[in-house]
Amino acid sequence: MSNQDYNVKQLLETGACTNCQVCADVCPAVAVSGDGDLSAVARMKGLAQILKGRGGLFRRMLRSRPPSDEAFDHFSSTVFRCTLCANCQEVCPVGIHLRDLWLSLRHDMVHSGYYPKKINMIRDNLKEEHNVFGEDNDERAEWVEDMAEPAEDGYIRDRAEMVYFTGCTAAYFPLAQKIPIALAEILDRSGVDFTLLGATEWCCGFPMLGAGLKDMFQEFMEHNLEAVREKGAREILFACPSCYATWREYYPDEFKVSHASQFLINLIRNERIPLKKLDLTVTYHDPCDLGRGTRIFDEPREVIRAIPGIGFVELAHNRENCLCCGGGGNLEMVDPNLSARIAQRKIEEILATGADAVVTSCQQCVRTMITYVRRNKVPLDVLDITQLIRRALVD
Ligand code: SF4
Ligand code: SF4
Repeated sequence: MSNQDYNVKQLLETGACTNCQVCADVCPAVAVSGDGDLSAVARMKGLAQILKGRGGLFRRMLRSRPPSDEAFDHFSSTVFRCTLCANCQEVCPVGIHLRDLWLSLRHDMVHSGYYPKKINMIRDNLKEEHNVFGEDNDERAEWVEDMAEPAEDGYIRDRAEMVYFTGCTAAYFPLAQKIPIALAEILDRSGVDFTLLGATEWCCGFPMLGAGLKDMFQEFMEHNLEAVREKGAREILFACPSCYATWREYYPDEFKVSHASQFLINLIRNERIPLKKLDLTVTYHDPCDLGRGTRIFDEPREVIRAIPGIGFVELAHNRENCLCCGGGGNLEMVDPNLSARIAQRKIEEILATGADAVVTSCQQCVRTMITYVRRNKVPLDVLDITQLIRRALVD
């Protein structure tokens, strides 16, 4: 065990926490469980103790002892029961980059051998099939067959101006497959020169970072970069905020990258997608990785408001204060009950607006909220922004 999973800035940040507890007040995991050990402040204390407890001069000076196996196990369970929503980071008055710290902490826990065993399954799936779910990667674009009128080439073209990178969740989950179907139809109708990567698209790498498997990331990144280069594309489009944020933050700055909400508002402004009237009142859920993560707050709202006749009402917590839906950070895999309780809180807030539908811009948020709504027979429509625009397209 060593502290090599942290950079110097992070090691300094661990000493900067003032114990103000502000982060605990906004943590969705704490809010629904009442367990203060899940808060950022508790994690910061645990991390500081671990770093001090490891060998070397520092430890001898402080006469610190490393935490016991049981303490490590408990601490690790709190590290992975977090949605990586970054609400703690948003409010931290000291400006500690908490989300990055949580990612490094997960790598540390995996390297140290204290981690949920389900992570082994994620690792095996990625190694064997190059997607997080262990599905046949050759079937990554099979959703095209469910389209009403797909292009004959199935949108797999030798060369194109733009690559639409679908991401694992939209590729394989039936609840989320409606998103790439809607987006492909919109792109088709507006004459955009695009291609899918199909079987040559591998996981973007974010699930590895979130699972503490950073060591695998480089291979996946290099593969995806080469796959896009081979298409001669200059731009990559994402409907998944996590894929988008990962390409923006961790991949080299070689291609223009756009999120679907940005791309859609440009199509609308350029009058390339005529929209009909929709008699619907909606609210908008800011996905954590899109809103707090990449500060895209305005474009999705502009897209919604561009539809004639639509009513729009904000959630009580919106934009940078938006409540997490419970779907991030691999939480559903590690603690499905905690994830569902966070989703319940989210749905209750949505219902309080009186909206007919909640619109979001993320396949994982859609999947999480639809799963909750269906299981609990809640009368609420859950739509991705691509689906909303598809619904509003003039026939
Ligand atoms: S990232 Fe979200 S869930 Fe995790 S500790 Fe921070 S506020 Fe809590
Ligand atoms: S908000 Fe920041 S400084 Fe305050 S307790 Fe949380 S991590 Fe520490």
